[in-house]
Amino acid sequence: MSTSRTVALVGRPNVGKSRLFNRLAGRRIAIVLDQPGITRDVNAFEVRDASGPYTLLDTGGIGFSDAKTPKALIEAAEEQVFMAVEMADVICFVVDAKDGLTVLDETIAARLRKSGKKILLVVNKVDFPGLEDRLSDFSRLGLGAGLFVSAEHGYHEDQLRDEIVKLLPPCEKPAETDNAPARRVRISFLGRPNVGKSSICNALLRSERLVVSEVPGTTRDAIELDLDFKGENDTVIPFRLVDTAGLRRRTRVDTPVEVFSAMRSEEAIQKTDVAFVVLDAMEGVNKQDQVLLGKALEMAPAVVVLVNKWDYARAAIKDGSLPGYEDERAYREHFEACVRELLFFLPDSPILFISAKTGYFVDNILRVAAKLDAKLDEKLTTGPVNRLLERMFQQREPAMREGKRFRAYYALQTGNRPFNIRIFCNRVDKLDDNYKRYLERGFINEFALQGCSLRFTLIGKPKRDRTKSPSRTRKERDENE
Ligand code: GDP
Repeated sequence: MSTSRTVALVGRPNVGKSRLFNRLAGRRIAIVLDQPGITRDVNAFEVRDASGPYTLLDTGGIGFSDAKTPKALIEAAEEQVFMAVEMADVICFVVDAKDGLTVLDETIAARLRKSGKKILLVVNKVDFPGLEDRLSDFSRLGLGAGLFVSAEHGYHEDQLRDEIVKLLPPCEKPAETDNAPARRVRISFLGRPNVGKSSICNALLRSERLVVSEVPGTTRDAIELDLDFKGENDTVIPFRLVDTAGLRRRTRVDTPVEVFSAMRSEEAIQKTDVAFVVLDAMEGVNKQDQVLLGKALEMAPAVVVLVNKWDYARAAIKDGSLPGYEDERAYREHFEACVRELLFFLPDSPILFISAKTGYFVDNILRVAAKLDAKLDEKLTTGPVNRLLERMFQQREPAMREGKRFRAYYALQTGNRPFNIRIFCNRVDKLDDNYKRYLERGFINEFALQGCSLRFTLIGKPKRDRTKSPSRTRKERDENE
């Protein structure tokens, strides 16, 4: 099953890739995402096929604009093939019936064959009947006889569409809802000793909205509990509380307070959908919290901050032992600003102020978890993802790094839990932390991913080896593969 099915068009310049792209996209003009800075070299279009959507890419522009010499042409072809292979499930290798078979076609074909990807040979510019008999040469490419088409006249357009879909993996089906047991939202609480993790768990368990059952097979130390939370309108949201060691009185007495040691916490977070990082309302944020949050973000797909012991803060403001704050709201705003500043790498997560002792806003924990969990299933459509990148690059250019700027060609979401965005770019090492954070923020705001951990996987263009002749380089690389 595939979440983002992708088809790439590859071929020498002028074989008619853009025309073909327009045909398949059902439009006449080729300019999609064709803006300076981003995606200049890749045209992308989301094709709505009966079998499900797939993304059509024309990688043709990569490197070819300045490819005037045969050597540069070969290098450009290599880059294009590399990108297509990285991006696509199916590669349409386009050749030109009028030119016949060329050396560069053979070079590209050799590379493509090695990739192990599904390849459809498309012989374009078959503009008049009878031409096909003279096209047997292309079978020498080792990719079958090829499909003869005319992008100009629409000849065999339907066949081309059919062949592409036949080669594509099936589209991901919506999750079965009937009879399938509901997936549980896995949550865990982490934080320094004494911030109130166990108390929060206990407060949750006291809630009348919960039906609790132990998960069979879990050891007493790392017990997992299933919680069925009765939401509004009689809906039931199934949760699983992961690693609740220290949850019950008896266990707590037996075990040291540091029961959530770094090791245990890591184990817990790895199995978690939504991790709650707990802070103490009277103590604020320290280095340990920063480390914990970093870990949580590395491992859990979503992170929420809980500020516990809010009853203390309230009382302290009232009796004047927390001077300088006019009221509870002022303290809350100050606290929140500190959290956002000190935990600046937080993906704009919700910050909930609660009291395990009084039960203040404790039910909210599960509501927020359920909402975030649903968010984690969202699919970000490729079009808007690329338009966002394009806009962000226009609004702020990446800084120069050793004479070069980071440049992105194309991006798509490749995973959920955590959200993973694959970005095809010029050079992986040219993206600095500031710009990365700027991009992260852009994604979080645009797609309302507050609280979701976001990963970028960068795929750079292969480095050109300018010291050797192209044929030598190719030969050497062939030998190495
Ligand atoms: P853990 O080590 O993070 O699991 O923390 P505990 O749940 O053991 O709590 C540490 C101490 O803080 C205990 O004495 C709790 O009674 C107290 N505590 C926890 N939550 C609250 C709260 O919301 N308000 C107040 N006033 N005390 C709390």
